[in-house]
Amino acid sequence: MHIETIAVHAGGEVDAATGALAPPIHLSTTFEHGPACELPHGFLYIREGNPTQARLETALAQLEGGAAALAFSSGMGAGVVLLQSLEPGSHVIFPNDIYVDFRTVARDFFPKWRIEHTVVDMTQVPAVRDAVRPNTKLIWVETPSNPLMQVVDIAAVAQLARQASARTVVDNTFATPVLQRPLELGADVSLYSSTKYFGGHSDVQGGALVFRTKDSYLEAVEHTRKMLGAVASPFNSWLILRGLRSLVCRVEKHSANAMAVARALADSPALAAVHYPGLQSHSGHAVAKMQMRSFGGMLSIQVKGGRERALAVASRVKLFVNATSLGGVESLLEHRASSEGPSSTTPPDLLRLSVGLEHPDDLIADLMRAIG
Ligand SMILES: *Cc1c(COP(=O)(O)O)cnc(C)c1O
Repeated sequence: MHIETIAVHAGGEVDAATGALAPPIHLSTTFEHGPACELPHGFLYIREGNPTQARLETALAQLEGGAAALAFSSGMGAGVVLLQSLEPGSHVIFPNDIYVDFRTVARDFFPKWRIEHTVVDMTQVPAVRDAVRPNTKLIWVETPSNPLMQVVDIAAVAQLARQASARTVVDNTFATPVLQRPLELGADVSLYSSTKYFGGHSDVQGGALVFRTKDSYLEAVEHTRKMLGAVASPFNSWLILRGLRSLVCRVEKHSANAMAVARALADSPALAAVHYPGLQSHSGHAVAKMQMRSFGGMLSIQVKGGRERALAVASRVKLFVNATSLGGVESLLEHRASSEGPSSTTPPDLLRLSVGLEHPDDLIADLMRAIG
C-alpha cells in the first residue's frame, strides 16, 4: 500500500466498544487483570504499554514498513534509551554535525556509562571505516543533519556497519519516512523527534524508534524504556497519531516551499552559503537525490559579515519567527550558535530555517527584505 493510505489509516481501527472513528484517549494508568496477573486485555500498567500508545506504535511501524516501533516521551528519550541499551565498553561512531544535545550526552554521560565514542565527518564514508573498532556496536547517522544539512550515504554506512557487526541508527527527523526510508536502505533503526514533523503543529512532544527486525536489541531497548520510564503519555500519543494523518501532504508542501526559498536565496550576494540538499550546488545533492523523495522543509544559510550580520537578519524578519524547534505549520528562523550553547560547533554566521506552510512568495519576500 502507498504511504499516503497507510498514514491515513494505520492504527485507526474503529473503536470496538462505541464505533467512534477518532480513537479514544485511554488515560487509565491500570488495567484489570486476573488473580494471578493474567492479562485478558493485553495491558497491565501505563508505563509498560497502553492502548493509545499501542495505536501510535502500530501506525509508526506500518508507516515505515518496520517490524516494530516504540514511542517515547521525546526524541532525546528515544535516542538516549537506544544508547543506554548498549553494553558498557561499547564503542559508538557519531557524525560531527549530530543534533547538539546528543553531543552533550556523549560529553556528560558516556564516561559514566563506559561508552566510548568517535566523532567523524560522515559525509566521507572512508572516515567511518577508519573509525570502526572491534568493540564498535552502533553507527549513528543523521541526514540531512541539524543544522548544517550534511548528507550521509545511508546504504554505504549501513553496509559498512553490517560488515563490522555493528548496528546503524538513522536520525530521520528532518526527512521523515515520507521522504527517506532508512530501514529499506539497510539501517537497523530509525529515530525521530515526533515533536517536529510527526506532531507537526508545535504543540506536542514525543520521540520514536522504528526497528527493521525484532531481535534482542529491540527487547533490550524496550526493557530500558520501561525501567527508566521514558514513555509517551496517552494524550501525547493521541496528538502525534493525529499528526500522522496529514504527515504526507504537510511534508510534501514543506518540501516544495523550502525548495522555492532555497532557489530564491541561492544567488543572494548577501549570503556566503545556502545549505539545501535540493540545490545542485550542495555537496550532498547526488546522494540526497538517490535516497530522498524530495529534500525536506529545512535549510540553513550563512550570512556574509559574520555573527553580527546574521543577528541583524534574524532581527528583521516579520513572518518568520525567531524560535527553536521545527516541523510546525509556521515558519521559524534561528541563530543556532546562540541557542545551542557551549556544545555548539555551528558557524556563528548561520541561521537555520524551518519552512512552514505559508505561501512561498510571502516567505521569500520576508527573507529578501531581512537579508537586504
Ligand atoms: C529536535 C531533535 C531531536 C531531539 O528531539 P526532542 O523531541 O527535542 O527531544 C533529535 N534529533 C533531531 C535531528 C532534532 O531536530
